[in-house]
Amino acid sequence: MSEASRIRVLDPRLANQIAAGEVVERPASVVKEIVENAIDAGGRRIEIELESGGTRLIRVRDDGCGIGETDLPLALSRHATSKIASLDDLEDVASLGFRGEALASISAVSRLELISNAADDPSGGWRVVAEGREMAPRVTPAPHPRGTSVLVRDLFFNTPARRKFLRTEKTEFGHVEEAFRRLALSRFDITWLLRHNQKVVHQLPAAADDQRGHERRIAALLGKRFIDESLHLDIEASGLRLWGWVGLPTHSRAQADQQYFFVNGRVVRDRLVAHAIRQAYRDVLFHGRHPVFVLYLELDPRVVDVNVHPTKHEVRFRDGRLVHDFLFSSLHRALAEVRPNHQGAADG
Ligand code: ADP
Ligand code: MG
Repeated sequence: MSEASRIRVLDPRLANQIAAGEVVERPASVVKEIVENAIDAGGRRIEIELESGGTRLIRVRDDGCGIGETDLPLALSRHATSKIASLDDLEDVASLGFRGEALASISAVSRLELISNAADDPSGGWRVVAEGREMAPRVTPAPHPRGTSVLVRDLFFNTPARRKFLRTEKTEFGHVEEAFRRLALSRFDITWLLRHNQKVVHQLPAAADDQRGHERRIAALLGKRFIDESLHLDIEASGLRLWGWVGLPTHSRAQADQQYFFVNGRVVRDRLVAHAIRQAYRDVLFHGRHPVFVLYLELDPRVVDVNVHPTKHEVRFRDGRLVHDFLFSSLHRALAEVRPNHQGAADG
């Protein structure tokens, strides 16, 4: 063999399996990706069903726009998306997805079935199956109401190294439930159902689009105490809007759980955001305690870059200083108003 032939192009199946590592860590990441697709499709009712913590089966059903017959195999191809067509679109992307990778990645490491109908005729509909990424998926007729069902069976059946990292059914379901909370907090107007091993875990009707409706949803997901012991705020300045609920200092926690921050409807974990919030609570929380919050930041999509990481949990603000100061001053002021009555006490 000559020295020139040591480099080869990976076959697409292996390439997809490797890439899957970035977005598909466990059942919860599959649920996140598939549900985000259901949201992007305009679904108003989304049902999630799991078996064995999602390792055996994840089924997500939506009543969104559906996928047409010719688009079905494309939906499974890498870098195939209906959501953006140009760099300009990426600049102000409003959908949760845009990379065209999730279904390709998931289908590379599971037995994936997609049944969808883009028309109103319920006898219409098409099915495509991909087991560990057969490269030429076959499309066959299958009745389905308008919308889409995605079934993911036997996650990591063909990648034992990844399967080994799965934890117990209970732990995996815990992660799924956390992903579910984030999704259900991101869209109050959607009706949600989460079932695990045939049991209904969460059933959430679409909430009225007002503070009471929102609070009812939050109480269902995080407990009534979260609402009873938090402040509602809604502040706008310099093209930024921050609204939501922040826990009173008396309702701090030993762990940094119950912290939800959304940027234009997308849940994020961001150091700059975390720092601003910590600073705002600095004088009212004991050392080592963590505040609870469900906060929504809304701003022009062109001043925030969401294409930082494949999971899109990170963002980059064009003017980080402005965002930081706005968050800090909004929260600091809101907390200052309650301080006299609540300072000092801690529990939980
Ligand atoms: P992305 O969401 O980044 O576009 P995905 O791999 O998640 O990439 O999905 C690929 C494409 O499949 C989407 O762009 C969309 O056109 C289609 N699709 C996936 N899920 C659904 C769904 N539930 N309803 C309608 N279309 C869907
Ligand atoms: Mg997607």
